[in-house]
Amino acid sequence: MMKLTRAAILSVGDELLGGRTINTNAAYMAQRLTDAGFLVVATDTVGDDEFAIADSLKSLAGRADTVVVTGGLGPTPDDVTREALAGAAGKLLVPDRALRAQVMEKAGGKAPRRNARMARVPDGAVILPNPVGMAAGLRVEMGGTPVYALPGVPLELEAIFEQSVLPDMKATFAGTKPMPSRVLRVFGLREAEVAEKLGELLDRARDPVVGVTVRDGIITITITGASAEQRAAEIRKKLDRHVFGEGDQTLAGVVLDAMKERGLTLALAESITGGMLASLVVDQPGASEVLKGSIVAYVPEAKHELLDVPKTVLSKAGTVSEETALRMARAARKKLSADVGIATTGVAGPDLDERGTPTGRGFVAVVGPKGEKVEKVSCRGDRNAVRRRFAWIALDLLRHRLLG
Ligand code: ATP
Ligand code: MG
Repeated sequence: MMKLTRAAILSVGDELLGGRTINTNAAYMAQRLTDAGFLVVATDTVGDDEFAIADSLKSLAGRADTVVVTGGLGPTPDDVTREALAGAAGKLLVPDRALRAQVMEKAGGKAPRRNARMARVPDGAVILPNPVGMAAGLRVEMGGTPVYALPGVPLELEAIFEQSVLPDMKATFAGTKPMPSRVLRVFGLREAEVAEKLGELLDRARDPVVGVTVRDGIITITITGASAEQRAAEIRKKLDRHVFGEGDQTLAGVVLDAMKERGLTLALAESITGGMLASLVVDQPGASEVLKGSIVAYVPEAKHELLDVPKTVLSKAGTVSEETALRMARAARKKLSADVGIATTGVAGPDLDERGTPTGRGFVAVVGPKGEKVEKVSCRGDRNAVRRRFAWIALDLLRHRLLG
């Protein structure tokens, strides 16, 4: 029987409220909990204030079956989560001898009074070891609701969360099972086009639930529900080759795998992407099997010197032109003796180029055994969004060429 377990997350820290620190901890845990089948019903953020923390803990414990609180477990005076937790749970803070010995050892005997605070725990708390830092995590019962307290440092939080919290939650709430879900990754369609093609499958009342999000032109379709797999197959059919992958597959990863499979090598000539394409490819393990190199030729002279684009082409057709893109791709392919060459040229903005070409306009070219192809690009966004877009479009153009 599938059981629904409600979870809540409390983030503690003035720096979170002030917007100086982005609350990545809550996002991390919410995602992991959701993936494990928990229903995250509330998240709250409060400052380093004992009473605010205690209030929020009580309120969240009333709404959820389990609560995780992060931050404020350290040795400084503004770290008051352990006091708040003890207060909310109606427990006394008591020293834990074993924990104290550990903390002192980790601190190398320094600041014993201050560090001793980290060895005080609400009476009856279970200690969750911290494999990467000083402050241990805690599991405390609050009127029958398990509450987990973890330090705020993301590395420490993640380590304790994975090692202790998630396994303990799964054991405590046996029967909590992840809802079957599938994620499809799509490129080359606008969000509205996807919506059009999927039609009523996107109705919120349908089972499975289908959600669409978009970032930098990459569309993620999440399908959740008992029949997620069948629905995913159905959607794949509707969107056909625009689906480039599933789950956390990336465009660069998919393209690299396809190149590997076919034993093909790649050379890049980058203007607007300025090395970003190379970086995306190099991010993938085994990139050296495919990528021979990238020539970053940013100013017109570099396109001439490094990639042999004739000066007349640069002045007549322009640096941002179909012809320049093609010549750049051909030259990279030849100079690096690769099977396939890709080039990018365009205007990243915010200023127009010398010919008044607007931001986001340009060309990507792919040349290889199957011939040559140039695509005109026209996209919007800030400088880096535009540059990423060019990189995706180049990779996707290559992907389509590889599919035949
Ligand atoms: P410490 O023992 O290091 O003092 P702590 O449990 O007291 O740990 P905090 O002092 O609240 O944790 O935060 C420590 C560091 O972790 C800070 O640099 C803070 O910016 C970062 N941090 C805290 N909470 C979050 C969060 N929710 N998301 C991302 N980073 C966070
Ligand atoms: Mg601290």
